[in-house]
Amino acid sequence: FTPAELAAVRADFPLLGRTVRDGKPLVYLDSAATSQKPQVVLDTEVDFYEQRNAAVHRGAHALAEEATEAFEHAREQVAALVGVEADEIVWTAGATMGINLVATGIQNATLGRGGAAAEQFRIGPGDEILVTEAEHHSNLVPWQELAARTGATLRWIPVREDGRLDLSGLDDLVTERTRVVAFAHVSNVTGAVAPVARIAAAARDAGALTVLDACQSVPHRPVDFHALDVDFAVFSAHKTLGPTGVGALYGRRELLEALPPVTTGGSMVEVVTMEATTFAPPPLKFEAGTQMVAQAVGFGAAADYLRELGMDAVAAHEAELAEELLKIGEIPGVRVLGPETVGTLGEDAGPEAGLPDRVAAVSFVVDGVHAHDVGQVLDDAGIAVRVGHHCAQPLHRRFGLAASARASAAVYTTLDEVTAFREALAGVRAFFGEE
Ligand code: PMP
Repeated sequence: FTPAELAAVRADFPLLGRTVRDGKPLVYLDSAATSQKPQVVLDTEVDFYEQRNAAVHRGAHALAEEATEAFEHAREQVAALVGVEADEIVWTAGATMGINLVATGIQNATLGRGGAAAEQFRIGPGDEILVTEAEHHSNLVPWQELAARTGATLRWIPVREDGRLDLSGLDDLVTERTRVVAFAHVSNVTGAVAPVARIAAAARDAGALTVLDACQSVPHRPVDFHALDVDFAVFSAHKTLGPTGVGALYGRRELLEALPPVTTGGSMVEVVTMEATTFAPPPLKFEAGTQMVAQAVGFGAAADYLRELGMDAVAAHEAELAEELLKIGEIPGVRVLGPETVGTLGEDAGPEAGLPDRVAAVSFVVDGVHAHDVGQVLDDAGIAVRVGHHCAQPLHRRFGLAASARASAAVYTTLDEVTAFREALAGVRAFFGEE
């Protein structure tokens, strides 16, 4: 972005203009937890409630028609952001719900629901689910549960000291017993981009399903689930400049048709008798109950906002921010977790060739100072970072840590904000008498 373009982006985010802690300008570096929202998203939600509010997919009245149109248009907008068709997008309450939907759908198939078409999902003792040591708990615990409920075995790809996945044992980890390979596109702790093409190819060769946690990629770089050739993928609106309470699950059309539903009830049915029910085709089959319509419509506006900025431009801007953020590694006593430089993915990354190999989420620890104290000193300066284990306890354990601090940027973050953060961080050890 040119400085003028970035200034225009910032002006779209009302919250970024506020001050905190006795008038200090807010420096918001917690976008990996949740992003701020542009005015157009807020306006779209308000407009929905002011002008179109009605339950969708029923009601033969004008408002219901307009609400349904807005809801389904949003599905097209969100689908377009990730290169897929609208009917391959299922609304969920967020990424966590999307992963649980797939895991529990597989469990239901294992219980015999879904008939012959769902047999492909069955999993049992001796079968294997493969995850990675870098997963957010949302993409780990549901698979632990599925393994516990079905007798399957959970295995994982380890993480190297540099924070990248250790794929040296991939051929042994993906076997003919592997039924699911679930992994994050981008780690919410290290910012490292996983070699999706390589892992997806290994899974495909073994006949395993791939489930991609795209929470930390979709907001920050061009993502095309068809090109990445994954079977399922999830992401959350609230990290993607959109509202809370809504997310998306992408599924290959034939898999969404075959996967049994998880939440059952109104709106997801075709014919209901006292004895039995036939289900609507996907995506509606997975959308029981009154949906989060205003939020979905807001999500659609967020997707369009990002597409209009251009995801290549977003990725380029954020690569610059990542480079600036990583300079904290030069501050004495500061240790960055994960890749310490921003590189470019090579030809072996397939559709991702040429894109940055990490995003602008940088976790770090400061010698002799607890992460929570680091967070507090930064907060006193108006700088918002995340502290704790970032819902990735196993990864922190891998690094010999219980907690870290994380600074994470988004499209609206400026280099000046990163500089302010670096300067404040440089004073942290002195503040605690560590130097
Ligand atoms: N996966 C990753 C990589 C994440 O960063 C997060 C959110 N921190 C989630 C999953 C869960 O997303 P949500 O809380 O929106 O369901």
